[in-house]
Amino acid sequence: MHAETIREAYLKASSFLRDKGVADSSANAELLLQHALGLDRTSLLLRWSEPFPAERETDWLRLLERKAAGEPAQYIIGEQEFYGLPFTVNRNVLIPRPETELLVERMIAEGNRLWPGGSPLLADVGTGSGAIPVSIAVHCPAWRVMSSDISAGALETARGNAERNGVGERVKFVQGDLLLPYIEQGTAIDLLVSNPPYISTGDMAGLQPEVRDYEPHSALDGGPEGLDLYRRMITQLAELPACPRVIGFEVGQGQAREVARMLGSAADWTAIDLVKDLAGIERHVVAVR
Ligand code: GLN
Repeated sequence: MHAETIREAYLKASSFLRDKGVADSSANAELLLQHALGLDRTSLLLRWSEPFPAERETDWLRLLERKAAGEPAQYIIGEQEFYGLPFTVNRNVLIPRPETELLVERMIAEGNRLWPGGSPLLADVGTGSGAIPVSIAVHCPAWRVMSSDISAGALETARGNAERNGVGERVKFVQGDLLLPYIEQGTAIDLLVSNPPYISTGDMAGLQPEVRDYEPHSALDGGPEGLDLYRRMITQLAELPACPRVIGFEVGQGQAREVARMLGSAADWTAIDLVKDLAGIERHVVAVR
């Protein structure tokens, strides 16, 4: 698929990806072209009629093949934006989703309401790329932020993202199973946040191939009903020095009420909210006491 100009490379790539059944073939072609040539969107458009650099052709074709095989563009280019910040992603971590930004926003609002001008301690469990704690640390300079994951590969990625966004010294990373690292250190958590794996094991095979074949199953599979990790975290709450005043969980479709019920029997809350995402699905459960 030789191309004389950048424009021609773009047009050929768009139709190649479309023929392979890739959704948003033009947007993907443009994104991959930016990456292959190391140009941002504006510079790419300015060079539209220039010759395609011959020495980049092999790499460019390799990127297109990966996309045609179904790999998410974010893993190919190694990037996803979240909460207005750049995050490095790789196959050790879930690609952060836009609905999770609503959870970040809500945690920041609750923290500012309950500790105005203060330094509450927020802990994120199952941090993956670090999208949640890094955005909160950037936006809440006075807060103390901790972040945990059971996966060493995820923690390494998350640490890199904290450094990349200038909060490497602010976010404290710990490795371990759910709340265990906080229990072991006797950490008094003020706000607990988590977007754990929540797909039921039986639904894993039916996930979109882009997700199922590329994203880490350990970040997706939540056991027989998809609720295992909520159940275990809620049981572990009793072993913390005190129950957090705010808990924010992201949940799968149809899980919000059951997670709210489990949380309800674990502590005396003043409110448990079910928050809908932009698609109208009950996506977050936020408990406050
Ligand atoms: N906390 C990370 C995110 O929200 C990872 C979630 C996960 O892997 N289940 O993107």
